[in-house]
Amino acid sequence: MLLTLDTKIEQLTRVGRSTATLLGKLGIRIVAELLRHYPFRYDDFGLILPIAKLSAGITATVGGKIELITNRRSPRRRMMLTEAVISDASGEISAVWFNQPYLTRMFKPGDEVYLAGQVTYEFHQLQFINPSLEQKKSFTLHTARLVPIYPTTTGLTQRQIRFLIQQALPACREVVDPLPSELRKRTALPARSWSLQQLHFPDHRRHLEAALRRLKFEELFVLQLALQQARWQLRQVPAQAILFQRDATARLVRSLPFTLTQDQRVAAWKILQDLQRSVPMHRLLEGDVGAGKTVVVALAALNVALSGGQTAVMAPTEILAAQHFQTFCRWFGGFPVAVGLFTRTQRLVQLRDAASPRSDRLKKSEILAMLSRGELDLVVGTHALLQESVRWQRLTLAVVDEQHRFGVEQRQLLVAAGNGVSPHFLSLTATPIPRSLALVLYGDLSITAIRQRPRERKPIMTQLVSAAARPRLYQFIRGQVAAGRQAFVVCPLIDLSDRFGVKAVTAEQAELQQRVFPDLRVSVLHGKLSAEKKAATMADFLANRTSVLVTTTVVEVGVDVPNATIMVIEGAERFGLSQLHQLRGRVGRSGYQSHCFLCTEATNPVVIERLAAFLRAEDGFALAEMDLKFRGPGQLLGTLQSGFTHLRLATLADLDLAEWAKTEAAALLHKDPELAQHAVLQRQVVALQASVHLE
Ligand code: ADP
Ligand code: MG
Repeated sequence: MLLTLDTKIEQLTRVGRSTATLLGKLGIRIVAELLRHYPFRYDDFGLILPIAKLSAGITATVGGKIELITNRRSPRRRMMLTEAVISDASGEISAVWFNQPYLTRMFKPGDEVYLAGQVTYEFHQLQFINPSLEQKKSFTLHTARLVPIYPTTTGLTQRQIRFLIQQALPACREVVDPLPSELRKRTALPARSWSLQQLHFPDHRRHLEAALRRLKFEELFVLQLALQQARWQLRQVPAQAILFQRDATARLVRSLPFTLTQDQRVAAWKILQDLQRSVPMHRLLEGDVGAGKTVVVALAALNVALSGGQTAVMAPTEILAAQHFQTFCRWFGGFPVAVGLFTRTQRLVQLRDAASPRSDRLKKSEILAMLSRGELDLVVGTHALLQESVRWQRLTLAVVDEQHRFGVEQRQLLVAAGNGVSPHFLSLTATPIPRSLALVLYGDLSITAIRQRPRERKPIMTQLVSAAARPRLYQFIRGQVAAGRQAFVVCPLIDLSDRFGVKAVTAEQAELQQRVFPDLRVSVLHGKLSAEKKAATMADFLANRTSVLVTTTVVEVGVDVPNATIMVIEGAERFGLSQLHQLRGRVGRSGYQSHCFLCTEATNPVVIERLAAFLRAEDGFALAEMDLKFRGPGQLLGTLQSGFTHLRLATLADLDLAEWAKTEAAALLHKDPELAQHAVLQRQVVALQASVHLE
């Protein structure tokens, strides 16, 4: 049989119906997919030693003859033991396996074999426990080399996967190399087919490294081509240039209930500068929780509205969308800016020049009609904004709030504008990204940071609370409520079946309402409530009609109730540092002194140290560093990377490779912007552009 990349997996030796089903679970149906099933680590069995040279703790392979191999039941437990003795010219060593009785069918005394694993010292002798065993031959799969370990599924062994991949290797000769040959020659990057073979069965660690580097480079190169080409294409479509409206802007600034900080002014000024150009803006506005990013959006939206354009603000949750709507309605009362709210369940509008903030409830068709006729200047919404039926008259500015994950949504919003114009794009985030990383990810995206907090703000006092200190905590809350303030109590999800935290918060609310604060109003909020109920609960809390809000992390992002000064986090050890920071950011949003209480019954010193470190952290930037220290770069990068699932080998930590790929991609696109001369690359780039967001 001639094996090709398209050969069905069932055609391979030793693949029956059930193995094919298991492989199917791993997404492997044809040979090409088998070759793309990459190892995630290797056992290093490359060191081959004479038996006499072994010592305890060493990991190595020995080659010798089987003197003896037998099965017996272990005396006490019902376990099958396989015992063997292997000898070479220098000596002999015993090996033992648990529950692998089939070994005596595959191997007989007299067989020449390799035995590989870690040597242990037990009962006064050296021994291998559960080593890999394989007939001696020139191309080994399980011993005497770097042995690949693959992702697998129950019922499929590493030995089986290795055996199958080895069968597939000859098909590598068919693999087309997408890298331009000029680039490969100049940089001495190895060929793709060689790299694939080395990745699976490296014949040397150096070769594995070279292969990995080459394959990672290719992934990053295709990513960079896709990014840069998409950017280039967007640039070909002009944006609407927005005239700066000095008087109206000044009037809005004056009407705000606070004075802008210098950082807010600078950020707004930079954005307004960008908007004056017909090149679409691509800007990321970073600012710690509570830094005041929303008002910057309002200033931009005002200018856009006065130029006859529309602004979309996309929020990650309904609660946040509704809150933004309320905020904008307040700020834009008396301004010629019509504001709308469009989520799956809520449709509200406030018309231009509304004398007093008042919003009207509309039918979906009504609000969509207003949107397409250009009667709404600023629309806040969730993903619902991306529905097919949403037509803008002139989408000029697209804002995405608190979205540090890259989704297709941004791209969809940008394309939504249509009519031969490209909207300006602004993304807001409280998660700082290292600058070097941002440049690689976003290319020439501009970044602005709001670092300063409003002057009146006092640092939030944060402390750990043990079970014993609880009565004092409740007394403290009582005092604050008496002084007019309010408190959040956030509960973690403990029970997996309680995905929305309904049980957790309901129980806590009952406890607090009945036993602790019978005289106060304690309300409850979780993701399972209807949108109306959520909105009503938030409105009651915002208006201080309830004093204590027991909630899940639905309030994690963006929620703004300045009068709330207490954040109690139950089971604090269950939250990540950044999440704790986001939650804490719900208080400290006014001139009042705010407090955050981390309740924990954890005693593990590592957990306590992590929480203690959190108490010391001043802002999100310091915290990002700390998360790096406690959880390693994987976690932080992991969050950022969740939108980059096509990166199979490269990670965002491969910064130098990424930078190199970026330079090479720019050079190639300069010569061949459409990749007309590079058909294979072009296909990959197009596929990538279709699957991920790339701005
Ligand atoms: P974030 O950057 O986390 O999105 P918000 O825009 O929600 O922060 O602002 C947090 C709170 O601070 C809001 O209540 C807002 O009205 C208020 N705020 C914004 N800017 C200032 C300022 N310069 N001085 C005082 N309060 C401000
Ligand atoms: Mg916000």
